[in-house]
Amino acid sequence: MAHSKVVIIGSGPAAHTAAIYLSRAELKPVLYEGMLAGGTAAGGQLTTTTDIENFPGFPDGIGGSELMDNMRKQSIRFGTEIITETISRVDLSQRPFKLWTEWSDGPEDAPARTADAVIIATGANARRLNLPGEEVYWQNGISACAVCDGAVPIFRNKPLFVIGGGDSAAEEAMFLAKYGSSVTVLVRRDKLRASKAMATRLLSHPKVTVRFNSAATEVIGEKKPNGLMTHLRIKNTATGEEEVVEANGLFYAVGHDPATALVKGQIELDEEGYVATKPGTSMTSLEGVFACGDVQDKRYRQAITSAGSGCVAALEAERYIAETEASEDIPPPHANPAL
Ligand code: FAD
Ligand code: NDP
Repeated sequence: MAHSKVVIIGSGPAAHTAAIYLSRAELKPVLYEGMLAGGTAAGGQLTTTTDIENFPGFPDGIGGSELMDNMRKQSIRFGTEIITETISRVDLSQRPFKLWTEWSDGPEDAPARTADAVIIATGANARRLNLPGEEVYWQNGISACAVCDGAVPIFRNKPLFVIGGGDSAAEEAMFLAKYGSSVTVLVRRDKLRASKAMATRLLSHPKVTVRFNSAATEVIGEKKPNGLMTHLRIKNTATGEEEVVEANGLFYAVGHDPATALVKGQIELDEEGYVATKPGTSMTSLEGVFACGDVQDKRYRQAITSAGSGCVAALEAERYIAETEASEDIPPPHANPAL
């Protein structure tokens, strides 16, 4: 059975940044990039989008897949071993930690690999609504990230809609108000879930209208290849009344699902299922297990913040390995006193 000092699970900006740092530190990290893990290609969420315009270093923007290919090449250049398999199971109860892949997870129960330290960088997925028309107009008017996509020309001075009533919806609506002619927030209930401060700012914003008891039921648009959305069918959930309104942008802010099924019950998760980390660090509730990227960040969810937290995880894993190697008695894994 193979053993590594450090294994990284995931393949987005967090995982690759961690890999670049750890391989440059000559720790020979092994990175499991996944085989369509959670339905997303290796490379993570950015492989599902076109131009990235807010990642520093690319003044003309860069394609999401190209950016991730570059990060992957950079990880390999310094000696990261990348394995195109999904980690299906981990045992974090004793050191070395044990990891199984989909291929190794058979009746013999031998793990594919053991590791002294594990970095969890499995990301998160924006929830979708599966509305009629959603597949056709996804990224052609529909987005799950206003900060990522809001500034593109198709939304300038156009009526835009946000679905959701939480802090993300409030933040996205106010961000979009800089670009759209108007922003309407569709809230399915008769109240917002957002914090009081955010709700107050949202409800008093001059360019934002909040429609309560409202649900989108269909996205309508141009009937040609790569056609854009132009209208939205909205239903009043209290009266059942429907209407079709002009809409050139639709932003989902109905929550994210962090990819934490793998570690649930083994390390501490917060009430929404994200890995709990000590603020400002990548340290989880278990020593030797680190988390970075969207799997532990429900607030910022950006490529650059994921990359930054990947760097933090690598530096902390490197220090942890050095410290445990320096001590003669390697203690069994135990609750992280830092958390
Ligand atoms: P992710 O990108 O979520 O990738 C994690 C990957 O790990 C998974 O996709 C999967 O391949 C792999 N994985 C998961 N589980 C396992 C497992 N068990 N075993 C092995 N592998 C596994 N951010 C920006 O800054 N700018 C933008 O313009 C921008 N545009 C976006 C557009 C879209 C459509 C989306 C969805 C997101 C966008 N984002 C953008 C957000 C950005 O993509 C995320 O913040 C970032 O990708 C999170 O990185 P991550 O490293 O946490 O992991
Ligand atoms: P939340 O889970 O807080 O809110 C999701 C919203 O989407 C809710 O209003 C929910 O409605 C609605 N929703 C869910 N499913 C559907 C559906 N099928 N159709 C229509 N509406 C739906 O997620 P957020 O991403 O907003 O926030 C996640 C966490 O991150 C929270 O803890 C939040 O406080 C935090 N955060 C903080 C920020 C800040 O402080 N600036 C910014 C962004 C996030 P309902 O209420 O009816 O369930």
